[in-house]
Amino acid sequence: MTARDPQHLDAPGTVAVWGGEPHPMADGITQVPVVHSVSFGYDDFDEWYGVAIGDRPGHIYSRNTNPTVDAFEEKVRLMEGGQAVTSAATGMAAISNTLYALLRPGKRVVSVKDTYGGTSKIFTEFLPQYDVDVELCDTTDADAIEAAIAAGCDLLYLETPTNPTLKIIDLERLTAAGHDAGAIVVVDNTFATPINQNPLALGADLVIHSATKFLGGHADALGGVVVGREDLIERIYHYREINGATLHPEAAYLLLRGMKTLHLRVERQQANAQRIAEFLEQQEQVTVVNYPGLPSHPQHEIARKQMRGFGGMLSFGLDGGLDTVARFFPKLRLSHAAANLGSVETIVAPPATASHVECTPEERAALGIPEGLLRYSAGIEDVDDLIEDLRQALASL
Ligand SMILES: *Cc1c(COP(=O)(O)O)cnc(C)c1O
Repeated sequence: MTARDPQHLDAPGTVAVWGGEPHPMADGITQVPVVHSVSFGYDDFDEWYGVAIGDRPGHIYSRNTNPTVDAFEEKVRLMEGGQAVTSAATGMAAISNTLYALLRPGKRVVSVKDTYGGTSKIFTEFLPQYDVDVELCDTTDADAIEAAIAAGCDLLYLETPTNPTLKIIDLERLTAAGHDAGAIVVVDNTFATPINQNPLALGADLVIHSATKFLGGHADALGGVVVGREDLIERIYHYREINGATLHPEAAYLLLRGMKTLHLRVERQQANAQRIAEFLEQQEQVTVVNYPGLPSHPQHEIARKQMRGFGGMLSFGLDGGLDTVARFFPKLRLSHAAANLGSVETIVAPPATASHVECTPEERAALGIPEGLLRYSAGIEDVDDLIEDLRQALASL
């Protein structure tokens, strides 16, 4: 369907703009329309039947496929360099569809303690209800993860950098260990974005995004997407088409439009994040700065090896704990305080109210998340203004 030959679209900025855009479109339109049609009509039985059984291209019903959703999916597929793609209503729907489609009673999952809060709930609350065994390892202890894999593993689920402490996992090493054990390897690439990291090229079978975050980039649409091995994507798509957590065409359009500037936004966000991390490291009131682009980051070398850039996310600790954080963030003029990330605007959030709201303070401590931590999603603003804003808020403490 894409006449702009993806063979010629290898640089990420070019793929972000042109990838997945059908050409030509009816009436010479240049922008993918939002196709609100629930179903697609046919006057000819044979044609309809051919589409229905998958023998010819076309659409039947928008819970299954939709042209706007197709264009969004194809853009992400090209950016991640995978065989096949499917999408879902939210990032969590993409993650749960993947897990429920590929697992069944008696299977065993190996993952890490620092996965996204919702993912972690699937591991600790829901999968055990279906007799799926889940072992969650220390995120940065690759030896322990390898030992857990060697003890038996049907699905290895990784996420790097992690939320909110920006830990880095060695993807090449662990995908190899997963494959040695015969496991399917799944990586949540939301924080890195395909601009900085392509887990499929590092050995993973599937890569997942909460498109709600950096892919969309404007905090105005929810969505999720999975890219990778065709045989696996078929099973995940089938689960999704039947269970019904379909991406809405309106959201697909907003995400598709957002993605056209993904490379520009991420470049600016990570340049800002680097400067801000360096600034914060020099401040007295700041106890710790977590940013993979800092040489002081414990897994900086792994990040350098597997990422082209270090991303727009960081977190930092304030002396005095949660009380200080609670006084500090309302003083910031140039940021939303909200449970989201990856948008053009800077966003701050204490883990206790956002990523790890379900945990007790003791559980957060066990995960290495101090109560005085603040997650910072650098926007695309002018960095001197952001630094000045942080400076005045720190001075007010
Ligand atoms: C937000 C997020 C998710 C969940 O995505 P939703 O679109 O909110 O369902 C999953 N993984 C990571 C890393 C996230 O940041």
